[in-house]
Amino acid sequence: MDDFVKMHERAPANILARIEMQLLARIPIKPVQINLDKPIASFSFDDIPKTAATNGAKLLEKNGFIGTFYVTGSHANGEFDGVKQYEPEDLRNLYKNNHEIACHTYAHPRLRGRNEMEILLDLDKNLETMRQILDDETFEFASHAFPYGEFDKVSRKVLSERFVSSRGVLRAINHGTVDFANLRTTPLERQRFTPEYLQTNIEKAIKNNGWIIFFTHDIAQNCTPYGSTPEMLEMAIEAIKKAGIEVLSVKDVANKIVKKA
Ligand SMILES: [Zn+2]
Repeated sequence: MDDFVKMHERAPANILARIEMQLLARIPIKPVQINLDKPIASFSFDDIPKTAATNGAKLLEKNGFIGTFYVTGSHANGEFDGVKQYEPEDLRNLYKNNHEIACHTYAHPRLRGRNEMEILLDLDKNLETMRQILDDETFEFASHAFPYGEFDKVSRKVLSERFVSSRGVLRAINHGTVDFANLRTTPLERQRFTPEYLQTNIEKAIKNNGWIIFFTHDIAQNCTPYGSTPEMLEMAIEAIKKAGIEVLSVKDVANKIVKKA
């Protein structure tokens, strides 16, 4: 583990921190009105595990879709929670195939209690790492996802000023007035996935002309509780196709919404 990452180790949010996040989440700081005339979907992957960049990307590509990959720079060539992470070549392939490379911080810190300087240093390091890996000095991130879904007042503000959107882990379909500083999501994680859950959320997206943002981690037969089997991801892709819902990256949907607002 590099020193930068070590410096950022911290205990998970306790009950009080979780209540604080719930309360903060009720007050949007970057409210945007969604005025879509049809529902829309995004598929996203966090961290990102090797199998998301390979198996996950391939399943999307097979269907003509692209995904959003929230990348943690320090995970390159490494392991995270026992899961093999991406290699630089995987990211270059994703980039070449028009997937969105999005920001998930460099060190994957818990963002509560950080000051602005610490957060900006981390974000700069992630950007620099991506520019090197992608061999593109002009590369910029548009979208961001909070590591562990954790934030506080300071981090949410800093991130909302830096990126077009930030995605958390609070579960909902994005419709009506949504907070671009804390986009809601629909997990495809094995630990809570059921076909009924998938269907109910797709129906909610259709009913509200909403934006459904799926998120998961590794894509493998023996996936972690936070990941998906290839069958689960295929089930979601098929259901979205069957419902005639357009699939775009988080960045492209955000641009579309902002233009229409
Ligand atoms: Zn993560």
